[in-house]
Amino acid sequence: DHIANQIAAGEVVERPSSVVKELVENSVDAGSTTIDVTIEEGGLQLIRVVDNGSGIEQDDCELAFFRHATSKINSGKELFQIRTLGFRGEALPSIAAVSKVECTTSTTKNGLGRTLIIEGGTVRSFVEAAARQGTDFKVRELFYNTPARLKYMKTIQTELGNVSDYIYRLAMAHPQIAFTLRHNDNLLLQTLGNGDLLQVIAAVYGSTSAKQLIPVQEESLDYTVQGYVSKPEWTRANRSGITTIINGRYIRNFALAQTILHAYHTYLPINRYPVAVLHITMDPSLLDVNVHPSKLEVRFSKEPELLACLVKTIEDGLKKVNL
Ligand code: ADP
Ligand code: MG
Repeated sequence: DHIANQIAAGEVVERPSSVVKELVENSVDAGSTTIDVTIEEGGLQLIRVVDNGSGIEQDDCELAFFRHATSKINSGKELFQIRTLGFRGEALPSIAAVSKVECTTSTTKNGLGRTLIIEGGTVRSFVEAAARQGTDFKVRELFYNTPARLKYMKTIQTELGNVSDYIYRLAMAHPQIAFTLRHNDNLLLQTLGNGDLLQVIAAVYGSTSAKQLIPVQEESLDYTVQGYVSKPEWTRANRSGITTIINGRYIRNFALAQTILHAYHTYLPINRYPVAVLHITMDPSLLDVNVHPSKLEVRFSKEPELLACLVKTIEDGLKKVNL
């Protein structure tokens, strides 16, 4: 199964940020309220994710590192009712195939857990160890055994940029989770986990910028939209300030971003782009997230209604301030 895992790894694990994404999504799925991410050298040397979630049961631990051993789907029907972030059971085996993994986890508060060490897909040891409840996941020397893949890595700054961009958006998707992000001992992000989206936006963009935000809220038959859009005083040179979150999942969707921009520019004919952080909620059955293993892309079954709701969100928001 080694080969299959390395092939899958190419699909799931493209670069450090994809590893961070899979690990942190598992931490979210495990019900964590604190998630601490540390990376070194853009994530190529070390990616460490420590959470206080459910932990992984002893029997599930080794199993989790074999392909499609997800505990999150029990039937085909569930595939269309996805509320948790991960569901394909591909991530851990893929990551373990191309790095040196050390995973310490405990499901109890009695201080005892176990540590699993896997290098290049081979289990080196699996022993009892002192552990707090939750999971401490270290991924070292990513792509050490796939030099062709390693060659494609960009500079440390670029890889770090991808990681931090992802963590920032995930933190905005989960204001009720306290996140930290550190790179080579520098603290890049700290959120409180008190549920206040505005606090998270301030932690990401700075508190001065966050003062230039308009709270927005809209409801249609099938959708609710809630969040913040920036006043004309705070715009950006590109569209990277747009963050759309659907049922707690950060989603990059061209039609959504385009619609937000168009609505904004209808009111404000400027050559700049807003910052917008929008939480969209809907019945998961209106959503197909199973398009690609990385799960960043989705399709909607009532797209026109959703887009109309977004237009109204931006319009009503901008009407609130004197332009
Ligand atoms: P998926 O997330 O698609 O189920 P993964 O390969 O990402 O697949 O993870 C496999 C399984 O390992 C998960 O279903 C979950 O049961 C367990 N797991 C992984 N990471 C954690 C974590 N941080 N806390 C608790 N359980 C975890
Ligand atoms: Mg997962």
